[in-house]
Amino acid sequence: MTHIDIVGGGILGLSIGYRLARAGRRVRIWERAPTPGGLMGRIPLPELGIACDRYYHAILNSDRELMRLFADLGIGEDEQRLVTTKMGFFHDGRCYGMSTPLEFLSFPPLGLIDRLRLALTIVHCRRIRDWRALEQVPVERWLESLSGRRTTRAIWAPLLRAKFDSSFDDVPATYIWSRLVRMTDTRDRRSKEQMVSLRGGYMTLVERLVAAIAAAGGQVRCSATVEHVAVAGGEVVGLRIDGTEIATDHVILTLPTPLARRLLPPQAAAADHQWAQLESYLGIVCMLLVLRRSLTPYYTLNITDPRIPFTGVIETTNLIGAENMGGYHLVYLPKYVTPDSPYARLPDAELIPEFLRHLRTMFPDLRDDDIAAIRVGRERYVEPLHPVGATDRIPPVVSPVAGLYLANTTQIYPALTNGESSVRFAQQVTAEVLQAARRRRERLEMVGVG
Ligand SMILES: Cc1cc2nc3c(=O)[nH]c(=O)nc-3n(C[C@H](O)[C@H](O)[C@H](O)COP(=O)(O)OP(=O)(O)OC[C@H]3O[C@@H](n4cnc5c(N)ncnc54)[C@H](O)[C@@H]3O)c2cc1C
Repeated sequence: MTHIDIVGGGILGLSIGYRLARAGRRVRIWERAPTPGGLMGRIPLPELGIACDRYYHAILNSDRELMRLFADLGIGEDEQRLVTTKMGFFHDGRCYGMSTPLEFLSFPPLGLIDRLRLALTIVHCRRIRDWRALEQVPVERWLESLSGRRTTRAIWAPLLRAKFDSSFDDVPATYIWSRLVRMTDTRDRRSKEQMVSLRGGYMTLVERLVAAIAAAGGQVRCSATVEHVAVAGGEVVGLRIDGTEIATDHVILTLPTPLARRLLPPQAAAADHQWAQLESYLGIVCMLLVLRRSLTPYYTLNITDPRIPFTGVIETTNLIGAENMGGYHLVYLPKYVTPDSPYARLPDAELIPEFLRHLRTMFPDLRDDDIAAIRVGRERYVEPLHPVGATDRIPPVVSPVAGLYLANTTQIYPALTNGESSVRFAQQVTAEVLQAARRRRERLEMVGVG
């Protein structure tokens, strides 16, 4: 039986590897970093004796595929805790709760009619089943037609500006539709937001996936950088990993498209051309503050003030519990960046005081000795960009080169990119790879090879 090689040991590569190994295939996963998990990995804070998530990762109680995977992997209910979380808005120098219908209806920047239209926008979104028409419409125009100009200016535009680093003219309406459906799915009967706190965070899932892959005969190799995919006669024949060539005839690349393209040889020009049709991503700069006290009662605090550079204040210990972080409180300040954003290049020594200065305009009582540690995370490829009407440019999983597959977040659309959608997409990828592999074997058998 031949191997299937997966490049990238993030949640997507591991979920695909798990499904393929369970289907009886011999799987090898190659991961460049010393530990698996990718964006869902952890960072150690040795000076405080703890390790925490590199980035914040919420699990919603409506994440059904994730829950199914937890059950499959034996992650029991005793390892999960349902927590009612709060969401707020920082507007005009003040924090406002937006967690309950009452708070929502009393949010000051909006008049009564605006609030009703905002509520109707949410109801309307939940009723839309076919998103295809939405992907032809720019999001701002669509929101204005539903929520009105004032609400779009006061609420939607600041959220979009923050998420898309100022420029959202070419963002389709599907983005807000997906976001609203996901966020309102997580409400309980009293309309309160509920999230799941998994003991050990996403790293628990990563570790169980790795163990389950090994138990099914697969391998996850870390500190292994794939440098090149070898192609001959229109099919995959090998991989070069840290200078060593290995033979293989199935390769699934789970890297962001620009990184995947760099591994392709000239013989894979047809795949390269296909993948180049949609390959823009936003990056992220995310400052993590480890505090000795809580900053806000919210999990997410959205920001409508355009002078504040970060997108929100995410206090994850309001979900995971400070007691699980050695008593420290974790606050993440993310800023999505285009490659030419000055923040993408700002050295930590300048970025940290700049972010702290803005945070202190929001929370003037934040003192230096409240801060136990600071880390800055940077990623070039995080949020794939789908411009208006670009669905046809999304590359298929099965490439024109036999045995070569692409599976990454650009193909997750119109769903938002997150653990839930990655785990669901992994099932689709597994089915497509198994089917393509079967057809290839049948073809070879017909011509008397293999
Ligand atoms: C700030 C932030 C907040 C987020 N919040 C949430 C959230 O609340 N909820 C949620 O569900 N999701 C959230 N996400 C999204 C989530 O992290 C991603 O959707 C998911 O982790 C993507 O997984 P992946 O496997 O596709 O990619 P990645 O995690 O990027 O994995 C790709 C892997 O490939 C490896 N690699 C790259 N090049 C090579 C090479 N040449 N050879 C070998 N290996 C290579 C990389 O090291 C990496 O481990 C968030 C992301 C960020 C950045």
